[in-house]
This record gives sequence, C-alpha cells and structure tokens, in this order.
Amino acid sequence: MDSPVIDIHIHIYRTSEQGHLGKEEYEIWEYGEKDVTLSRYGGSSEEALTAIEEAGAEKAVVVNLCSRSSLMEEGKLELPRDLTDEQREKAVKEIAANLDSRLKASNEWVCDLARSHPELIPFVGVDPGILSPEEMEAHVREMAQDRGAKGVKVHPVSQGFYMHDPRMSGVWRACVELDLPIIAHVGPAKSGDQYATPEAFTPVMKAFPGLRIVMAHMGGGSWRRLPEFAEAHPGALYDICEIIEWTGAPRAPTDLDLAKLILRVGPEKVMMGSDFPWYSILHTVERVRELPLLTDEQKELILGANAVEFLGL
Ligand SMILES: [Zn+2]
Repeated sequence: MDSPVIDIHIHIYRTSEQGHLGKEEYEIWEYGEKDVTLSRYGGSSEEALTAIEEAGAEKAVVVNLCSRSSLMEEGKLELPRDLTDEQREKAVKEIAANLDSRLKASNEWVCDLARSHPELIPFVGVDPGILSPEEMEAHVREMAQDRGAKGVKVHPVSQGFYMHDPRMSGVWRACVELDLPIIAHVGPAKSGDQYATPEAFTPVMKAFPGLRIVMAHMGGGSWRRLPEFAEAHPGALYDICEIIEWTGAPRAPTDLDLAKLILRVGPEKVMMGSDFPWYSILHTVERVRELPLLTDEQKELILGANAVEFLGL
C-alpha cells in the first residue's frame, strides 16, 4: 500500500515577492557550484497550496524562519513606495525596534493560515537575539496550546546561536514537556562560529534527551560527519531537503553517496522535505523515487510513512 506523501520542510511567505527576494538573498555555497533547478514559485500561501497539490502531497510542515534579516525584509516590503529618504529611514528604524512583535505576529499568522488549510502544519520560529528567554518560552507555549503550533524551527547559522545556548533552555524544556519537535538547519557556516555542524548539536542532545530534533539537509555541507553523529545519537531524525537537489556538486554527495548515507543513519529516521519555495516539492519527490540502493518500502518511509509517525497523524 502506498503511504501518503508528506513534505516536512517548506517555507511560506506573506507575498510571492517577499519569497522571491528571500531566495535571491540566501546564498547556498556549501556544496560548490551546480546548476540547480529552483522552483518557479516565490512561496505565497496560494503558491504553496498549488505546489503541494501538484506533488500529490497530503500535508506539509511550514517552518517559519524568523531571523532578524527575514523580519526586516518583510517590514521593508510593507512600506509605501513613495516615502522620502528621511521618512524611509525613520520607518526602517521603527521596524528594527519592533522585531519582537513582528516575530510573534509572524508565528500567529502561520498558525492561523494552518487553521484554514488543514494540509499545512505550523512550526513556529524563535530567535534568542529578538526575544528574551522568558518571552520565547511563553510564546512557544502559547502558540502550541492556543494556536495549534506543532513544533519549533531554528536556524542557528542565520540566527547566530548555539543550540546549547543557555538562553534556549526554557524553550527546549517547553518542547520536551509539550512534545513539540524541532526542525533545525544543519550545515557549516561560511566563516566564524560553526553553529550548526552536526557536532554542535551534541551538547543539547545530551542535556535534553527527550527533545526530538530533525537535523535538516542530512547535515548539508557537513554530510560526511553525519554517520558518526547518528551513531552517537540514535534518537536524532533527518530531512533530505536541499542536499538531494545538490547531489553531484563538488562538495555534495553523489546520488549513490546520499543513498548510502540514508542507509547508514537508517531510512526509518529520514523524511522528505523540499525547502519549498527554493526547490519544487514534486521534483524532490521524484528525486527520492530515483535514488539508487533503496527499496520501494524504504522510499515510502522517507516520502511519508516516517512523517506520519513523527507528526502523530
Ligand atoms: Zn528551510
């Protein structure tokens, strides 16, 4: 029997324009050069729902990445176009001063969107550079208990923090208590602190053994170090978004390497994600079906059966 197709990693933007801008500004350098096919969408909710349907997917997890730069961009796009330089400067300062309420409003928006579209499953974003530890914890609890949030999204590189940062402890405690899983960006940083290599997750895994963490991109540009991490942390889960579109690039795995990596960490721990609107959901599904070495049953697990378990559907 075919299991449903579930995408556990998509992004949605308020407008298609904002999504296109986000795609242009987010540099993916870690695999080296490759002519990768991006989705044609900007990632508005309408486009996301169309892409989900095109892929024959039943559900998609919307990870709401709330970083300083994404919230600033969102605010700037809302400004009237006819402001004088002086007015614009003042308005931009105001946006910067209100990132905390913008972050909360963004999570509320995603949760409300998911209420009217049951195919969407909301994961809310937190950032210790924007909210205080107490505010973050209270916000996550409120989103989960009153607004239907099903998990938390973090991007330690874009947001500049380590998972074991003491400012995050309250959020992680709330996640364990409310059984909210986390989807975290994983991969090397271009320079400076290596916030999100697989090893950077070891302290938090040790401190919060009940925390369910999905390591995005199978480690991204740090994929070679994933087997060692997976062996030490049998409870960790993985998604294959991005890396599956970059196979064959100079620092990326080949299709065969990726299939071996999946078998090594365990196909029952790997889930399909597309990172829409960067990549096409349909194309990602096709890429999973094309992978060598894996059996049809293992591909079914990756395409949806594992996510059914993970999300408690
Ligand atoms: Zn993503």
